[in-house]
Amino acid sequence: MIGIDNFSSGKPSNLHEISGYPSFLLLTLDVAKPSILHQEELQGIEEIYHLASPASPRDYQRNPFATIAANTAGTSHMLELAAKNGAKLVYASTSEAYGDPEVHPQPEEYKGNVNTWGPRACYDESKRLGEVYCYEYHRQIQLPVKVARIFNTYSGGLRNDDGRVISNFVTQALNGEDITVYGNGSQTRSFCYVTDTIRGLITLMEKDAANGQIINIGNDTEYSILDIAHLVKELTGSSSRITFHPLPQDDPQLRRPCLTKARTLLGWEPVVTLREGLLRTIEAYCSQMGR
Ligand code: UDP
Repeated sequence: MIGIDNFSSGKPSNLHEISGYPSFLLLTLDVAKPSILHQEELQGIEEIYHLASPASPRDYQRNPFATIAANTAGTSHMLELAAKNGAKLVYASTSEAYGDPEVHPQPEEYKGNVNTWGPRACYDESKRLGEVYCYEYHRQIQLPVKVARIFNTYSGGLRNDDGRVISNFVTQALNGEDITVYGNGSQTRSFCYVTDTIRGLITLMEKDAANGQIINIGNDTEYSILDIAHLVKELTGSSSRITFHPLPQDDPQLRRPCLTKARTLLGWEPVVTLREGLLRTIEAYCSQMGR
């Protein structure tokens, strides 16, 4: 098994455990560079999970061009490698493909409401173009490619300063700092614990019936951001205050996957509740922070 990362946003310590396995090889490379096509260790590969891209709004807005490159050139390179090696490919797209949705919950056939002229566009639109690359490789050479539209995934593997809501709230609550709700907190998200997301991606890879398909992978229990703030406060036993701050531009108001296709085509569904996933996340953060 080979892992590729340029560590532009990931946490190297997440790999400590797996690094001990002799069958695991880590290559510190950028998928957007064409030289990756000639990387010796990648010849003969059978499956590619293409998840390379910053995913936190803070990270991708700091590095818009690297984000666009990872999802466009990077996706093209991964597809070319798959084609050359007769490999299967799962592409990690995003619920951001739906933008600020006018259809709720979001089924795969909903075409989205994305602003091309705003701070989220570098991520949303490059992920969408990545889907187009996948579509063309499937249409033209029947490459066994599958697209996962992943909805907000979390775990203790997120950096404390990643900037996303779960990592911010848990870090703030554990440090006794203010919990920063953007807007009035009525906007919603549906959070999927990482083990459910990974199981979904593996199931997708294994399912031939999913070739050439886009499938939502996420949890369909929806929470307001203010509810999340209260839940994190309760589970950490924190005395942090909840404070309100301006809502970022183009912040989607609603987000919940329709999972009918995932359930019927993959026989997959999430099983970890938000409460359980948050408890695991809090425990991991406590041990990382030496508590
Ligand atoms: N959010 C918040 N406080 C924070 C970080 C995020 O209220 O400290 C909100 C953000 O405005 C959005 C939601 O939480 O409405 C999810 O944000 P995140 O960056 O985690 O992911 P997104 O789904 O927006 O990509």
